[in-house]
Amino acid sequence: MFSHNKRLQYTVRVDEPNPALASLLLEQFGGPDGELAAAMRYFTQGLAEEDPGRKDMLLDIATEELSHLEVIGSIVAMLNKGAKGDLAEAALEEAELYRSLTAGGNSHTQAILYGGGPALTNSSGVPWTAAYIDSRGDPTCDLRSNIAAESRAKIIYERLIAITDDPGIKDALGFLMTREIAHQKSFEKALYSIADNFPPGRLPGKAPYDRLYVNASTGPGDTEGPWNSGPEWDRTDEEQMSRPIDGGEGMAEVALPASQMKTVETMMLRTASDPNSDPLTGVDLAAGPPVDAE
Ligand code: MN
Ligand code: MN
Repeated sequence: MFSHNKRLQYTVRVDEPNPALASLLLEQFGGPDGELAAAMRYFTQGLAEEDPGRKDMLLDIATEELSHLEVIGSIVAMLNKGAKGDLAEAALEEAELYRSLTAGGNSHTQAILYGGGPALTNSSGVPWTAAYIDSRGDPTCDLRSNIAAESRAKIIYERLIAITDDPGIKDALGFLMTREIAHQKSFEKALYSIADNFPPGRLPGKAPYDRLYVNASTGPGDTEGPWNSGPEWDRTDEEQMSRPIDGGEGMAEVALPASQMKTVETMMLRTASDPNSDPLTGVDLAAGPPVDAE
């Protein structure tokens, strides 16, 4: 069960109202790498997890992400607080109110549609969607995805820290960013606590394709490194690329029942192209006399 502690996980001090900054910070409220997406990702993974240690970790981190949602949402609410009151009470002259709401970003949408409260959208106003959650229900797969999600969240916080000079906001965003580093570390450790974690899932790869680097490019600039050469790798070159890797014909086939095969042949005959035809078409009929090139 959840209960609510009225204190925030980290103190929010905002120097002055700034609706444009509020709209940018929504990226981490209702965006793809934001706190709601993180909370829902780990909460749903945790509910289905069989391993007691991972279940505990996932639900702990999911719950903390909700606390982060509360922190970032509170910053947004503080940044919009003045504008919210002005709009609700129609306190300013129309022109002045207009100017205060159209400060930049999608601050006007935040004010007009959402009344200045934190909206579950990204910084462009795109509504939050469960499609942001890409869990597949396999720990060796989902933990890798979680590691990537935490690193994306860290980068977005870095960018948000770079666009504000409000020391209180910088401080709170720095805390949120740092927690994503700690989460990434937990997920990395949890992944490598599974002795057999690569490749993900149960089935091994089919040898020898699991050690094959396909050099699919021609032209200058081929580079060799540990990602494509050395004792762990075989390489195919451009010449080999013209043949199927499996040594087979490289054609697509299917065994059809006779009745279906007959229907397909009827369709092929009916729609066959005649390579020896020279048809007159609308293109020829509509073309005017040639224009002399000068
Ligand atoms: Mn977080
Ligand atoms: Mn996190």
